[in-house]
Amino acid sequence: MPDLFIGGAWTAARDGRTREIRCPADGTLVAEVDEADGNDTSDAIAAARLAFDEGPWPHTRAAGRGDLLLRVADLIARDGEALARAESLDTGKRLVESAYDVDDVVKCFRYFGRLAPADTGRVIETGTANTDSRVVHEPVGVCGLITPWNYPLLQTAWKVAPALAAGNTFVLKPSELTPHTAIRLMRLLAEAGLPDGVANLVLGAGPAAGAPLADHPDVDLLSFTGALQTGRRLMAAAAGTVKKVALELGGKNPNVVFADADVEAAVDMALTAVFLHSGQVCSAGARLLVEDALHDRFVDEVVRRAGKIRLGGPFDERAQTGPLVSAAHRAKVEAYVTQGVTEGAVLRCGGSRPEGPAYDRGFYYLPTVLDECHAGMSVVREESFGPVLTVERFRDEDEAVRLANDTVYGLAGAVWTGDEGRAWRVAGRLRLGTVWINDYHPYLPQAEWGGFKQSGTGRELGPAGLAEYRETKHIWRNTAPEPQGWFA
Ligand code: NAD
Repeated sequence: MPDLFIGGAWTAARDGRTREIRCPADGTLVAEVDEADGNDTSDAIAAARLAFDEGPWPHTRAAGRGDLLLRVADLIARDGEALARAESLDTGKRLVESAYDVDDVVKCFRYFGRLAPADTGRVIETGTANTDSRVVHEPVGVCGLITPWNYPLLQTAWKVAPALAAGNTFVLKPSELTPHTAIRLMRLLAEAGLPDGVANLVLGAGPAAGAPLADHPDVDLLSFTGALQTGRRLMAAAAGTVKKVALELGGKNPNVVFADADVEAAVDMALTAVFLHSGQVCSAGARLLVEDALHDRFVDEVVRRAGKIRLGGPFDERAQTGPLVSAAHRAKVEAYVTQGVTEGAVLRCGGSRPEGPAYDRGFYYLPTVLDECHAGMSVVREESFGPVLTVERFRDEDEAVRLANDTVYGLAGAVWTGDEGRAWRVAGRLRLGTVWINDYHPYLPQAEWGGFKQSGTGRELGPAGLAEYRETKHIWRNTAPEPQGWFA
């Protein structure tokens, strides 16, 4: 069966091109999928435009849209195992992590399914006789949705669920490396009864298949999750048609540990913060900032435990984390570590590929700790997006805040301290969209997710996540119109 989904039909790429998808853990062929280019994406945009302008979906009552999303949630739960497996084969991620992700996807669809009918507008008191006034929400139109490879289905759900809840139609372009859960999601949307043309899927490389979603005049909104450099390019491309643009970009997230923290919990979570999914997490705690008095003891323990982390493929139950997504991505991570050492960082563990036949054909890289780092180093300033922890020292609260905020990013981070007042003070001063106190990584569908500064322009999840996909219109009604005579 072909893999592009356009206007309710499964379609091959116009020029017949395909791409091999291989598992990053061992290079085995997962499947060959159709590879779209700009012509296929234009077809998909036309289908989404038609479904928006003439189809029933934008005018379906909000409660009906909510019901459909709840059905989709049930179908995703039904197919959870197959979805998790597909995700693990594409990404190399441990199966247990993919299963968590699928649970989160179900929660996301349920959240927006319930939110869809909850806020349909409001009536305004005009203060003028024989008039009334309402503020109503309407869908934005055709949405271009572009997603990355690290959490393929989850990042897709964060866009697709609110876009549908608000009544939009869309063209989805997932990462060319990880297409399979998006293909499965399209099938489930159709099974749930979504009208043809509302959901469209194109697969392929960003510059060919994705770029038209930024500059095409028939796309009303672009929602992009991915790298800062790509986001900048797409924002510029979208300017020509003044699209609504929501960007969810990277992070260089500080994990700030004071000497009065619960050290055992802080060490444990410092490892999870950065090495989960081999650091391929936008909110990864890749910058550890430790108070001077605690530094040596804390870092020694982090290094000791990092050196024992077991790597393995998605179905290796003993593995604690997996490979990087591609050879090119591993090469990028390696270059950051080499550059960091050249700039003066002290390599405390890792810094190389694991040895042994189990790792030969995958893109593995050892958990790496670089100590004695400072903000001038590229490995501290830029996202390596790999299992690389940089360590900086600080003397007091002001210096901790200054170092933590010394980045163009502002996505997420944490503060660890036993002093409640300091916890809230520091959390308030960190220029980040999410701050964890004495924890790392949890999020809630009900709470907004998004970045300050160059981590993005958008908000996903929460009521603001739905608002991204809505226009808000004021309708004034005169129930007894009479001539005013001003220009009589
Ligand atoms: P990427 O920017 O390389 O690719 C993301 C998507 O954009 C892919 O689908 C890709 O094909 C597409 N793309 C690339 N160039 C394009 C172009 N010129 N025109 C149109 N589309 C284009 O990012 P990635 O390597 O896939 O993902 C990793 C990045 O995503 C990291 O920076 C990470 O921090 C970020 N991320 C952010 C969040 C968040 O919530 N803020 C979540 C997950 C990932």
